[in-house]
Amino acid sequence: MRRLGLDLGGTEIKLALLEDETVVRTATAPTRSEDGGPEQVLERVVALGRTAGSVDSVAVSVPGLVDDDGCALLFPNLHGEWAGVPVARPLAHAFGREVPLLNDGHAFALAEAEVGAARGFRDVVCVVCGTGVGGGLVLDGRLRLGLDDRAGEIGHHTVLPDGVLCGCGSHGCLETVAGARAIADAAGVATFADAAAAASAGDERAAAAFERAAVFLGVAIANVVLFVAPERVVVGGGVAEAGDLVFGPLRREVERRTANVAPLAKIEIVPAELGPFAGAIGAALHGAANV
Ligand SMILES: [Zn+2]
Repeated sequence: MRRLGLDLGGTEIKLALLEDETVVRTATAPTRSEDGGPEQVLERVVALGRTAGSVDSVAVSVPGLVDDDGCALLFPNLHGEWAGVPVARPLAHAFGREVPLLNDGHAFALAEAEVGAARGFRDVVCVVCGTGVGGGLVLDGRLRLGLDDRAGEIGHHTVLPDGVLCGCGSHGCLETVAGARAIADAAGVATFADAAAAASAGDERAAAAFERAAVFLGVAIANVVLFVAPERVVVGGGVAEAGDLVFGPLRREVERRTANVAPLAKIEIVPAELGPFAGAIGAALHGAANV
């Protein structure tokens, strides 16, 4: 079975083609959401998808929220007026089949739980920390989409009750203190890539910025661990690529806050395995499960 997954991201559209559970091809194309409008962006998704040839299923991971009719509600990291724009319908028309959509946090979780760092485990919490912070919860081997597909929004867990205003309208969300932008700001540099380069070169302020983000990630993950008692917690995204700089303080914080209550000896907090194509792989798995 040839399963096509496409991941519409802020800077790139990614493709993963699976034959059963094996990735046989990956590809990317620039999103260029600042060039043209949503219609042109969706045409780029279709053009990349068509390079896969004949397939048995197609699904698309999107960077935000969609409604029941497959129209965009909020795609915060794309330029253009997306609210209300039909997404599923033009994709279905172009591919000649139903094209299920899922959000990027759910796609990441599905991929890491089924074929990535948590394969073989039944109860898994997945967190993806980049510009945005998202995630997904797999319980008893199934991704929990939640009502209106809104489960898994760990990026908007409050970690600082009186913290700064988040794009969602609340204050002190995890994303405002652990997202890539927050790390660059705390490191005093222009971009997250600059912060990562400075931290790996030994810059103390940049290292402290990563540690602060990791501690807040640990606070949010500790809360979820206490509530869910999962077998594995998978952490991915650009921030997690900093490795021990993030995983060290994160694990310490979870331990500090949960060790007397949660069965921590049995809960592993591990880096994601699938890399930047996790979202596209998750979409491919989701599409195959929904044909
Ligand atoms: Zn928020």
